Amino acid sequence: MLNKSILKQVKEILETANVCNRCILRFFGVKEYTSYISKTDIEKSIKLLVDEQSDDLDKTQISQEDSTNDCPSAKRFSPNPCSSCLGILQGACDEMPSKLDDAVVKSQHKFKDFILQVSLPVVVDLRDRLFLLYLEEKLGDSYSFDEEEIPSVKDICKWVIGSQYGKLTNSDFTPDSDFQILISSVYSETIKECAVLFKNCPGAFPNARKRKVKEEEIYTKAAVLHAMKALYTEMKKLYSLPPSPPDKCCTFDAIKCTHSPLYLGGRYNKYSRELSQTPWILDGKRIMNSSVNELITDIVQKRIIADKIIFSASGREDVDVKMLGNGRPFVLELLNPRCLEWSDETIKAIEDEINKNSDIIAVRDLQVISKMDTLLLKEGEEKKRKNYVALCLVKKILSPEDVEKLQSLKELKLEQKTPIRVLHRRTLATRERLIHSMEAKLVSDHLLQLKIETQAGTYVKEFVHGDFGRTTPNLGTLLNTTADILELDVENIHLEWPPKPNSDKNNKES
Ligand SMILES: [Zn+2]
Repeated sequence: MLNKSILKQVKEILETANVCNRCILRFFGVKEYTSYISKTDIEKSIKLLVDEQSDDLDKTQISQEDSTNDCPSAKRFSPNPCSSCLGILQGACDEMPSKLDDAVVKSQHKFKDFILQVSLPVVVDLRDRLFLLYLEEKLGDSYSFDEEEIPSVKDICKWVIGSQYGKLTNSDFTPDSDFQILISSVYSETIKECAVLFKNCPGAFPNARKRKVKEEEIYTKAAVLHAMKALYTEMKKLYSLPPSPPDKCCTFDAIKCTHSPLYLGGRYNKYSRELSQTPWILDGKRIMNSSVNELITDIVQKRIIADKIIFSASGREDVDVKMLGNGRPFVLELLNPRCLEWSDETIKAIEDEINKNSDIIAVRDLQVISKMDTLLLKEGEEKKRKNYVALCLVKKILSPEDVEKLQSLKELKLEQKTPIRVLHRRTLATRERLIHSMEAKLVSDHLLQLKIETQAGTYVKEFVHGDFGRTTPNLGTLLNTTADILELDVENIHLEWPPKPNSDKNNKES
């Protein structure tokens, strides 16, 4: 810390240059953020640091609170905003907590903690640099701070708003919260103040070389900082020191609230042969009225406010294939959700409503899951075994020997060229897949019920009908005949997912 007499000089120099108390404390190099929060405490801190008589303190406090009183340092109450922070730390930031409160109430977010992002004009960085140069010029070697040694306007601004808003809402201001409040600001004089940098270091402003660029787009934060660095030694000559008080304040213009996504996991059954998994749209026209996706998300959307709900599942079955047994795992990603408390009852109520609302789908094991769980689902997709039941039509008359032959085949290796029906969306390749086992039952002379356990990614329909020889061996080649598939159901997907409801209470934490 600088010695008291230097601090006193710093204070006087900055006061004369129309710099506010919070900024004076910054240029003292005070890094304890708590010193900046209350306006009256700042006054006190400055007094203590420069060691003035303590009885002056009360007077100053009074004058600070009521600026119409006779004031010993009228210069401090210049009508212009602070020359350093453009008015941000002078009062604008103290008004923000109640504005944030209004904005968050309006956005309907519920939260226990929050993180704050503040976007400020680059001019505050520019003016910090100029004041550091000015102090160095006035005080020589006894003051040689650079930007790293003084807290930035942005950090102090975040601290003042964050701690006051935390107090107001009884919530924690913490960098690892999932709830983010973004405050943006406008300052109309940026171009005017930065133009000299552009003139002297045009190379730092890449947008200026683009065609059809608006003037304000030239002065990006990165470009201005780059030019300041390049012109480091010349800055003193390019600007008048101290920088003159701004005519206009920097003002906060927008507050945006977002919460990181929340995830719901579960499994679904599909009992219809006329229902697609996701909305089926062809040439801009809907083919079917509904989908598994919509039957689930429409109900969730009614109960939980979110900007958007994204449905994804571990694989998909064709429109005409039923999904039976323990169902197919799926995830709902709720973007910018407003609700945080997910009681087991709420989730159960959603699940019940989905099931009551439709007799062609059913949902089970619905629960709140972590992002990690969603990754496990993706991994499992590659490895899971599946059980199918296929009703097959065979040209020749079937015999018990055919059944025996099929049942004797274990770990049967197939070579599958990309099926014709999916060629429009899959690259052409030959894939090796395993049929782990088969159970066959004669239904009639030409009808065979086949229960098959396969490796993930096996095309079962193609195994049955052969896909014009693109899948070998196939049911036809195995039985020396031709075969076709009449019906297919997925009976089981071997993937323990999501974790059973109530099995891990920690997952319920939002
Ligand atoms: Zn200031």
